[in-house]
Amino acid sequence: MRERFWERFPLEELTDEEWEALCDGCGQCCLLKFQDDEGDLAVLGVACELLDIDSCRCGDYANRFARVPDCQQLTLARVEAFRWLPKSCAYRRLAEGRKLAGWHPLISGDPERVHRKGISVRSFAVSQAEVPEDELEDHIIAILPIDG
Ligand code: SF4
Ligand code: SF4
Repeated sequence: MRERFWERFPLEELTDEEWEALCDGCGQCCLLKFQDDEGDLAVLGVACELLDIDSCRCGDYANRFARVPDCQQLTLARVEAFRWLPKSCAYRRLAEGRKLAGWHPLISGDPERVHRKGISVRSFAVSQAEVPEDELEDHIIAILPIDG
């Protein structure tokens, strides 16, 4: 990867490896979401069944789309459309012209810092595998305006 590529090149010029390295490993995009008829988005404290909650990494990244049809691929064209990405998300930050946070692994060199700072879902998420479908609504932790 090129030195400090995130500061020197726009998102559209990143290599695949650099694009992947931008992910801070927070796991927030792997929380389940419901969209209601008014366009609001409910975010649950329940993570996709494939998320390894301790590491906040996908348990089968190579096969994720085959195994989880709702898994959404984050591509350059979709960063701005994914309004539900957390403000902390590295892709959203760069797309909005902001800098990476000091706790980001590329800046800090420490992949644990995203957890210690409470950015990741490690401390609160429960796995979808542990929550019956009819109890999912009990786990709503935020309602987001879809345009917000
Ligand atoms: S929200 Fe962004 S930074 Fe966090 S895991 Fe998802 S893609 Fe990576
Ligand atoms: S399949 Fe993997 S990347 Fe996709 S939402 Fe689930 S844990 Fe996240």
